[in-house]
Amino acid sequence: MTLKELSAYIAVEFQKTYGRAPRFIAAAPGRVNVIGEHTDYNDGFVLPMAIEFYTIMAADKRLDGAGVVTLRSTSQPDAATIDLSQTINPATPKWGNYPRGVFAGFQARGVNPGGLDVLVHSTVPLGSGLSSSAALEVCTATLIEAVTGKAIDPVEKALLAQKAEHDFANVPCGIMDQFISALGREGHLLLLDCRTRQTELVPMSDPSVALLIINTNVKHELSGGEYAERRAQCEEAARNLGVKSFRDCTPEKLEQGRGKLSEVVYRRARHVIGEIERTVHAAEGIRASSWPSVGNLMYASHSSLRDDYEVSCKELDIVVEIAEDIGRTGGVYGCRMTGGGFGGCCVALVKADAVASITQKIASEYKAKTGIEAAIFSSRPAAGATIIKG
Ligand code: ADP
Ligand code: MG
Repeated sequence: MTLKELSAYIAVEFQKTYGRAPRFIAAAPGRVNVIGEHTDYNDGFVLPMAIEFYTIMAADKRLDGAGVVTLRSTSQPDAATIDLSQTINPATPKWGNYPRGVFAGFQARGVNPGGLDVLVHSTVPLGSGLSSSAALEVCTATLIEAVTGKAIDPVEKALLAQKAEHDFANVPCGIMDQFISALGREGHLLLLDCRTRQTELVPMSDPSVALLIINTNVKHELSGGEYAERRAQCEEAARNLGVKSFRDCTPEKLEQGRGKLSEVVYRRARHVIGEIERTVHAAEGIRASSWPSVGNLMYASHSSLRDDYEVSCKELDIVVEIAEDIGRTGGVYGCRMTGGGFGGCCVALVKADAVASITQKIASEYKAKTGIEAAIFSSRPAAGATIIKG
């Protein structure tokens, strides 16, 4: 659904739910990270893109004038309420904590939008690694901007949304998801420096290419310590190499210090240091529309995540193998796992006119090899959060 169709849809649903037309409509996109995995907490670069899948909210001031926000979601049975006259704290239902945290962030800044009736709908699949959570947070913040008529700086907005996820959803996420949802621009990727928080829009307007997102529909339950273990290994490696973070380390410096690292920790470091370089090179390649070289960087990223960082899984590897088999002649430039790993999605850079045939091929071969249906969708780089009405 286009954003226009989506806003027509939410207006109709709002009318059905609350018996009147909405005065405000805001939307924020999900995202896919094209390259730069496990680099964020190592002061590196990431290169995400906003996707044409959105969280959208319609709202109106309450009729009874009470300072209470009621939020209903088309995907949840229970409504969430927020009493703006009290200090806002986490509560139930759980999904309401993402918007709650954002209202709390505005409360801390002394901003009170007043009581609202809100309806939420999302075309970003929930819990698939495409960041429906950041879309929900950034959409909430954008809605509050619409209601108050006061825009806040988009970087501050992203940081406020990230804090909501930390403090209200207990997820210690980095800055990428909220930054791209708030700052994305149509026809551009966002090169984000996780050390300085500086951003650079990277134009990707060549209509001959598109990104394909392939959801493996698996999520392997881990003992839980994998993420913390990787982080600890990175810290150990940086300490032993005498650098503050991997950002200050070149591949040459890593080789010189190899003797100071265990074999596993060396491989973890090699992934991160290589990935930071690949991300910068990919941004250059995208700017120059050098699609074969961007594709090769994506394949290299995947191999490194699989072999050195060891966060892939059988299903992600199968998708990448199928993509490699289709090859450039079949329209695939590159493919890699995206997100934290152990399941979730792959992202592929493909020729736009081959999207249908590639989708079909990946779906049928993935099904044949795993018995699982993949969910596959294509997207061009979409715009960040917007006020549609208000
Ligand atoms: P991801 O961000 O990868 O989609 P998360 O687990 O971080 O996965 O966030 C998913 C959670 O965000 C959901 O379980 C739900 O609590 C909340 N959420 C996201 N979108 C919506 C929505 N449209 N309506 C209600 N809750 C939502
Ligand atoms: Mg999330």
